Amino acid sequence: TDISKIRNFSIIAHIDHGKSTLADRLIQATGGLTEREMSAQVLDNMDIERERGITIKAQTVRLTWKGHELNLMDTPGHVDFAYEVSRSLAACEGALLVVDSAQGVEAQTLANVYASIEQDHEIVPVINKIDLPAADPEGVKQEIEEIIGLDASEAVLASAKTGIGIEAVLDAIVAKIPPPRGDKDAPLKAMLVDSWYDPYLGVVILVRVIDGSLRKGMAIKFMQAGTTHLVDRVGCFTPKRTDLPELTTGEIGFITAQIKEVAETRVGDTITDAKRPAVAALPGFKEVQPVVFCGLFPTDAAEFEKLRDSLYKLRLNDASFSFEMETSAALGFGFRCGFLGLLHLEIIQERLTREYDLDLITTAPSVVYQIHLSHSKTEDAQTIELHNPADMPDPNRIESIEEPWIEATIYTPDEYLGAILKLCQDRRGIQKNLTYVGTGAHQRAQVTYELPLNEVVFDFYDRLKSITRGYASFDYHQIGYRTGDLVKMSILVNEEPVDALSMITHRGTAEQRGRGMCERLKELIPRHLFKIPIQAAIGGKVIARETISALRKDVTAKCYGGDATRKRKLLEKQKKGKAKMREYGSVSIPQEAFIAALRMG
Ligand code: GDP
Ligand code: MG
Repeated sequence: TDISKIRNFSIIAHIDHGKSTLADRLIQATGGLTEREMSAQVLDNMDIERERGITIKAQTVRLTWKGHELNLMDTPGHVDFAYEVSRSLAACEGALLVVDSAQGVEAQTLANVYASIEQDHEIVPVINKIDLPAADPEGVKQEIEEIIGLDASEAVLASAKTGIGIEAVLDAIVAKIPPPRGDKDAPLKAMLVDSWYDPYLGVVILVRVIDGSLRKGMAIKFMQAGTTHLVDRVGCFTPKRTDLPELTTGEIGFITAQIKEVAETRVGDTITDAKRPAVAALPGFKEVQPVVFCGLFPTDAAEFEKLRDSLYKLRLNDASFSFEMETSAALGFGFRCGFLGLLHLEIIQERLTREYDLDLITTAPSVVYQIHLSHSKTEDAQTIELHNPADMPDPNRIESIEEPWIEATIYTPDEYLGAILKLCQDRRGIQKNLTYVGTGAHQRAQVTYELPLNEVVFDFYDRLKSITRGYASFDYHQIGYRTGDLVKMSILVNEEPVDALSMITHRGTAEQRGRGMCERLKELIPRHLFKIPIQAAIGGKVIARETISALRKDVTAKCYGGDATRKRKLLEKQKKGKAKMREYGSVSIPQEAFIAALRMG
């Protein structure tokens, strides 16, 4: 295709503002699919994505409009995938900024706009949902200008639902977004934007050609991975898979190259011609690292193999989470898993439960700590990365511990501001900024905090949602490591530490967390024939304590004293119940107790 006729763009929006609906409309209006082929939403193809209204895996579509080739790059819709988002955006020259005309600018809109501006994008504002009675397009225009600093005077007014303004959106893409630039005679340089596993094709790689061209039969080299492959298929999605002889300079499309595992491909890698390689790789490549870890254990020990197989299957399509075997005295055999963030953790957990029908126990999520150790008799001073509280080294050797911090931006109607400030303060937050944006009914407070990631992985989202009844929006990015007064807190049931419940916490908030945990466990662990102490301790020092009183013998005697059938039934029931209990210090802890105890309330 003539490079001047190509437009590469993505759609950026806050969740629910209509990104997927608009994408479907654009496909429909350009004739990519017949009416009958248009399923409700083409772009979000996974159940969980559809239910949660987020896009996890990018899907990209080529549209034809008035003699132009428009490549719509779909981007993942969550902060956990910030790096993937940055690469998808780097593959485009512009973006449609979709803002719900009844909601206005939200935290995630902003995060995405900034990422888009960083890529020098031409941004075309689209004010969506103008069919709604509560639509306030003028107010939203003003907000876009005030908050983002973009000229919104030529914003397209649209309704992705009813189809108003869809042609105007397509015309604006052609008129406002610049064509790509690149050298078609230079050695091939293409960016690996995404990859996924297809049962028929193997690994499919989404690419943006920067210079040169990509043809079938070509030997290509992945500059970061250092591997070489033979291209066996080249094409694009319309959204139907369409094979092409080549992808030329500026184009976006897919290739396959007989690659077996997604783990062999790295987002942001540079693909070049093995025979005539480019001199330098593209900038911006990053190795993604898991930031949140937790243990996943099958509720039923017999399901360990099934869990392992399921994790392998999921990893076929998502190389960004990691897992290794872990054993826990309380929970038996399981896996220590690493994720890009909390939502990523939830998605994998949910897929294991739903698609693979597994019953799981998740241990307290933990971030990655940098622990500086002094030298010992046998070892030099060193720094280790800790992502399992169970592996905490000897406290006597610890010089200092660093933890990851984030900068969070929260948008909220004024009435919830007080509760939010308190929540952030309780979580060791440092307030950086507080301003008001928008006017009238749209006015909201924008507050920026620096927070330790540790305090956020616990239950920050849930708390925020509940105190603001879902009206606040939240976004964050990591800002590096800082030294903190951190300690390992153990939970002891009947004098024995329960490893699955131990956690790293700040000394200042340890007591509060410990007390909460003991109180919850007291509610959750059934009474036994003996008294059960529940303790939270740092080192040898108990910082919180509860006691479950003993069941009186005569009570059980009476209970078992009835007729024979009733007694047998009871015993059977007990036996069944036992399968779902874990013995701990001769105390039986129900599985649900672990899960419930980890939910901070
Ligand atoms: P996404 O999360 O940005 O991809 O948003 P979706 O496209 O999934 O849309 C979220 C919700 O808004 C869905 O229920 C859509 O049907 C609805 N929606 C999208 N566009 C419009 C619109 O123009 N008008 C109205 N009334 N609803 C819309
Ligand atoms: Mg969507």
